[in-house]
Amino acid sequence: MAAISIGNSASRDASSSNNVLPPSAGGELSPELLARYAGPCPRYTSYPTADRFKDLGAARAGSDAGSEPKPWDALQDIQNLSLYVHIPFCRSLCYFCACNKVITQQYGLASSYLDRVLSEAQWYRQKTARAPVTQLHLGGGTPTYLNDGDLTRLVKGLGEIFALSSGDDVEYSVEADPRVLELETLDTLRELGFNRLSMGIQDFNPEVQRAINRICSPKQVRALTEAARERGFGSISYDLIYGLPGQDVASLERTIDTVVGLAPDRIALYHYAHLPHRFKAQRLISSDLIPPPQAKIDMQLAATKRLTEAGYRFLGMDHFARPEDPLSRAAESGNLARNFQGYTLMPADALVGLGASAISYSRDGYWQNHHGQKEYATAIAERGEAIWRGWQMDSDDRERQWLIMELMCHLRLDKREAERRLGAPFAKYFAEDLLRLEPLKADGLLLETPENLVVTDRGRWFLRNIAAAFDRHLHLGASAAQYSRVL
Ligand code: SF4
Repeated sequence: MAAISIGNSASRDASSSNNVLPPSAGGELSPELLARYAGPCPRYTSYPTADRFKDLGAARAGSDAGSEPKPWDALQDIQNLSLYVHIPFCRSLCYFCACNKVITQQYGLASSYLDRVLSEAQWYRQKTARAPVTQLHLGGGTPTYLNDGDLTRLVKGLGEIFALSSGDDVEYSVEADPRVLELETLDTLRELGFNRLSMGIQDFNPEVQRAINRICSPKQVRALTEAARERGFGSISYDLIYGLPGQDVASLERTIDTVVGLAPDRIALYHYAHLPHRFKAQRLISSDLIPPPQAKIDMQLAATKRLTEAGYRFLGMDHFARPEDPLSRAAESGNLARNFQGYTLMPADALVGLGASAISYSRDGYWQNHHGQKEYATAIAERGEAIWRGWQMDSDDRERQWLIMELMCHLRLDKREAERRLGAPFAKYFAEDLLRLEPLKADGLLLETPENLVVTDRGRWFLRNIAAAFDRHLHLGASAAQYSRVL
C-alpha cells in the first residue's frame, strides 16, 4: 500500500509558543515506518506504568501511625474529583477480551458486588473532603449488566457519599454493550445524569464477529445511537478493533464505511494484541486466523484514510473525533488532557477507582485494587478498602509524568516551562532521553527547536514510542516483551 498523508492540521510555525498543533510536515505514514515502531511499548495511561507498581501493604499498615507517605493522603487537598467504577460482569465471553471480567448468568453476584463497591466508597468519604465530582465513568466488563434498579442504587449511593455534580458541564460516561442495552436502560442512565455513551462495536463483519463470539448488527447499533441522541446523550463514541481474526483490509473498510454512516462523535480504533499466553479467552481464537503484521499495518493505514477522508480528526493514541466535537476543539486550543479512560476535557485533581482492579491516582501517585473477586471481597470485608499495589511518586516521576502528558495531549513540550519546573537546564537533565529521541527525530516524528519539542503529524501515530524515550523506569532494565505491540 502506498504512503498516505494523515495530516489534517494546518501548517504552522513550529517555533511559535502559541502553536498547539503540530506542523503538517512529515504527515506521510508508510508501511516501513509503521513496521519500524510496531514493537512492544507501554500505553502510558499512567506514568510510571502500572507494571512498576509495588505492593502497598506496608504503607497501608502504617496508615494509622501515619509513618509512611501514602498516595491517597493527597485526596485531602483536591478541588475536584473523578470517579471510576469497575463493573466486571458480562453475559458471554468475547474471545479477544483482555479485560478483568466475570462471565456469569447469576445476577446475585453483581448485586452483592455492588454492596461492596458502595462499602468501599464509604472508605473514601472523609478522605475526599466532599470535593465536587466532575467526572463519573462506569467501565467493565459490562456496566449495563446491572439492571436499572441497581444502576440507580449505585449512582444514588455514590451521591450520598460524594458531591456528585449535575448538568452538562460534567462528564458522566458509561461503556455499553450494544448487544444487551435496552432502551429503558438508556432512559435510566439519562435520568441519572449520564451524558456520554461509549459502545463496543469492534467489527461489523459477520465472519469476524463469529470468530470473536460477539454478534451485533449495524441495525442494533443504529437504533441505539439514534435513541441515545433523542434522549440527549451529548457524545456517542464507538470502539473498533483492527487485527482481529479473519479481518482483512476490504472487510475493515466496509465496517468503517458503515460506522461513518452512523456518524458517532468519537471513534477509538484499537489494535488487537493476540497474547493467548496471558489472556485465557484468546486461546479460543485460532492463531491461523490472526492477520500477519503487514496486513495489520495495511488495515491501520486504510482505516485511518477512510476516517480522515470522512472528516474525523485524528487526536493521537488511537482516538478520532468529529471536528465539531469538544475533544477536537480542545485539541485545537491546547486544552486536551488524558486519564485512564483516554483523552478528556476535564481532568480532575484526583481519581478514585472503585471495584476490583480499579486504579486511583492523586498528585502523589497511584494505587490499584486487588483483581480477583475473592481477594476484593475479603479485603473490603476486613479493611473497608481493597488496595493492593501502587506507586508513591518522587519529584523526577512528577516531572516525567508532566512531560509525557504534555507530549501526548498537546503534542508539544515547552522546554523553558520544563526548565522552570526542574530548576535545571533541559538538555542536561534529559541528556540520555534526548539521545534516545535522535532516531525518532531522524524519522520525522518530532522536531526540536530551541524552545520546544513538537510532535509532527506523522509522530502522532508514535506517541507511545516518543513517551517511552522519557520513561526512566523502562530504561532501568524492564523487558519490553511484557507490553502490547504498537501494531
Ligand atoms: S469484551 Fe467486554 S463484553 Fe466482551 S467479555 Fe470482555 S468485557 Fe465482557
